[in-house]
Amino acid sequence: MIIGFFVVVGLLIGSFLNVVIARIPERRSLWRPGSACPGCGASIAWHDNVPILSFVALRGRCRACAMPIGSRYPIVEAVTAALFTAAGLTFGPTPDAAVAAALLAVLVALTAIDLEWQILPDVITLPGILAGVLANLATGRVSWRESLLGIVVGGGLFLLIILASGGGMGAGDIAII
Ligand SMILES: [Zn+2]
Repeated sequence: MIIGFFVVVGLLIGSFLNVVIARIPERRSLWRPGSACPGCGASIAWHDNVPILSFVALRGRCRACAMPIGSRYPIVEAVTAALFTAAGLTFGPTPDAAVAAALLAVLVALTAIDLEWQILPDVITLPGILAGVLANLATGRVSWRESLLGIVVGGGLFLLIILASGGGMGAGDIAII
């Protein structure tokens, strides 16, 4: 029962993350307009927008123009569902599971955006860092001192690597931890 809940929520959040991944780097609104095919502009009906199932049913193509839909869409949905399930199995139905799932969702979005665009948008990373600290405070798993220490030490370590490697790593690699 509980596992099924995490799978379904993971699929739905994964579907939303696909919107985030497609639109945030282009600075487009997440809410409007509704989903449309980038090829022909046809709006996508809810029944063609069901995570993974619609991709399979449509054989990975737009219903209107048959343009291939990126495999990123079902992959992001499946990965998010798997991670949410792992969070559910690890923590059970607790606030900790919700916090873990939220942070994992942020990491999925950042990873996919980084792969496609080689950027990590501040609009996700900076609130993500703040949310991480707040989540730690709320759940009491980590003290605020340790949390701040994590940001400084983790971020500082990557900063050293970036400086030492002469730009082999991007500044975004600091933000992701
Ligand atoms: Zn189309």
